[in-house]
This record gives sequence, C-alpha cells and structure tokens, in this order.
Amino acid sequence: MRFFVYSIPMQLTPLNGMDYDQLLALCNAAGVSTAHADSLRAAIFRYYSTDIAAIADLPLRLRSYLREHTTLLEPACTATSEAADGTQKLLLRMADGKEVETVLIPGNGRLTQCISTQVGCAVGCTFCLTATAGLTRNLSTAEMVAEVMAGQRISERQVRNLVLMGMGEPLHNYDAMAQFVRIATDPKGMAFSPNRVTLSTSGLVPAMQRMIRDELPCNLAVSLNATTDAVRDSIMPINRKYPIALLLDTVRDYISVRGNKRVLIEYVLLAGINDTTADAERLCALLAGMGCTVNLLPFNTYPGLPFDRPADTAVSAFRAILVEAGIIAVVRESKGRDIAAACGQLKTEVMQRRKAGLQA
Ligand code: SAH
Ligand code: SF4
Repeated sequence: MRFFVYSIPMQLTPLNGMDYDQLLALCNAAGVSTAHADSLRAAIFRYYSTDIAAIADLPLRLRSYLREHTTLLEPACTATSEAADGTQKLLLRMADGKEVETVLIPGNGRLTQCISTQVGCAVGCTFCLTATAGLTRNLSTAEMVAEVMAGQRISERQVRNLVLMGMGEPLHNYDAMAQFVRIATDPKGMAFSPNRVTLSTSGLVPAMQRMIRDELPCNLAVSLNATTDAVRDSIMPINRKYPIALLLDTVRDYISVRGNKRVLIEYVLLAGINDTTADAERLCALLAGMGCTVNLLPFNTYPGLPFDRPADTAVSAFRAILVEAGIIAVVRESKGRDIAAACGQLKTEVMQRRKAGLQA
C-alpha cells in the first residue's frame, strides 16, 4: 500500500503542473478512488482540457474538489506572426501579465515547438536579444505545459518535437523544467518520446551534472559558440565560471553515462568573431572523438546587437572543414527570418509597437 504525503495548498494550484503522483494525492485528498487519476491525467495532458467542470468522466465529488482547490492555466495569446515557410510565433501572456514567446517550426513533415523556460534570461550573452532585459522570473511547470497547449491549439498538425531553446536558460530553472520534462515524456501524459525532447544550455556545469545524476529523460544541446576561452568569455560571460575544457569534460561525462546519446553542439556564427578557418579547425580538435552533431546558426541580426551575420560562403566553408573531419554539421537557418524568429524578437517588436502607441 502506498501513502501519498503531498499537502495540497489552499491557493488554487495549477493542475497542468502536476505529475502523476500529485494527481493521485489529489484523488486521495478529495476522497475518491485513485483510479480517477488516469482520467484526470488524460484530460489535462492528452486532451488539454481547460475546464474542470467539463471533464465528464470524473466523479462530481472530485470535480467540485478540483474547482475549489485547483485551476487550469491557459495563457492568453497576445500576438502571433507567421512566416512564409510556415513558422508561427506566439506571444503568450501569463496570469501576472508577463509575456513569453513560443515558436512552432515545420520541417521534414514534423512540427517542432520551441519552449521558453524563463521570462528573460540572466546569462547575458552579448549576441542574444533575450539577454538585453535580464531575467524577470522563472516560468512554472504549468506555464511551460500551457505553452504546449497553446501551440497545439493554434496548429492543425500535432507537435512531434519539443526543444527547450526559447527564452531563458532551462538549467537556471531546474526543478520546474525537470518536472515539465517528466510530464512531457510521461507515456500516459503528453507522451513525447524522450528522444524528441531537447534541452539547450549555455553550459551551467553543476546543473548539467545534476541532469546526468537525475537521468533527465531528454536530449542535451550545448551552446558552445566559440573555440577559445578569450572569445567565449567575451560573448558568453558564463564561460568565466565554466570554461570550455570543463564544459566539454562534462559533455564527455554525459555521453559516457548516457551511452549512445549524441549531444548537439550549437555554434552561433558571428562574422569576424568566431567564424574563421582557425576556429573551424579548433572546433574539430575540441570535439574529436565525441560523436557530437554540430548545428551552425548564422547570427540572426537585429538592430542594436553589435554583430554581423557571416557571408553564406563563409558559413559553407566553415561547415566543410567540420564535415571533412567526419563531424555531422548542419546549417540551421533561423526559421522564419521574415518574422524575426530568433528568441526574444517578437516580444521586443511588440513592446516597441506598444511604446509607440500602436496596437500590438
Ligand atoms: N539559454 C539556452 C537556450 C535558449 S537560446 C542556450 O543558450 O542554449 C537557444 C539558442 O539560440 C542558443 O544556441 C543560442 O546560442 C542561440 N541564439 C541566441 N541568439 C541568437 C541569434 N541572434 N542568432 C542565432 N542564434 C542565436
Ligand atoms: Fe540566455 Fe541562451 Fe540567450 Fe545566452 S543565448 S542570454 S543563455 S537565452
């Protein structure tokens, strides 16, 4: 016999941030059979219900308990934009008025959704628009689940992949993010395959080690973005704490513990900063024997950010050196460049329009 010891706080707890054990505890607290936790889980995470009263297959007693003690988060969509290539960007307003972006990206017949994990970001990378306003707050698990709900609602096709590559540093919001990943990959919940969920980090080494210990069910992507500590220090301040050698040692630990896991290395190409032949060669040496895939991200320009996108020929030449060394390297155009699809751009544009007194 199992006993569940979660206490249910008196304020309205969002159901869409609860894992299965918490749903079981709710059934216990409401005095109904825990068998109803299955229907509750399906209603929340499979059918993305937004109305507790409408979950018809739950006993009345449970529904009235849920209405009294819980809520279902559903952020308002305050702006959308759609690019010629089908990429859709949504700006979502949370209950406290804070806004984050989520992006739906079509490709290879599948839809990928890019999830934000924080409002803003504290890491301060100099090429990133999200960094410019600093960190406002962490998102809750329920708010991350609600992003998926909003994406699913607006799109006719089912989202197949989740990438935690939107606004924020996922490993700065470890607990809420980890609960989200577990809910997302619960086979009886949102049921994403762990191979189709990818977390991207700027390289917070202790939290990466925790991810290894916790066997977090998702893939790892690391934003390397430079091949020398001097350059990485200058564009990603986090490097001063966790320099390249330590970061890549941690990636090697992850690979050895997780077995055949292929880690994705992201590399933003900034003209004249990190895109030279010598950089490409150093990158090959740094990644030798690791079996990583490299995503090359030509810088997505935005007025005010002091960088340039390299010429297409420079991007191809950089990639060719990696391929020659046996590294799988893919150039990822920021999808929907006509709608400014790099993270933080829709939000910045809407803010500017609001400031100018125009309707968002
Ligand atoms: N904070 C996490 C995840 C969000 S950023 C991280 O840094 O990994 C997701 C990716 O977008 C990172 O690889 C980052 O380097 C990249 N990125 C940020 N701004 C960009 C820009 N202007 N152009 C191209 N890629 C950018
Ligand atoms: Fe934060 Fe990632 Fe942007 Fe760096 S690139 S500021 S870690 S969101």
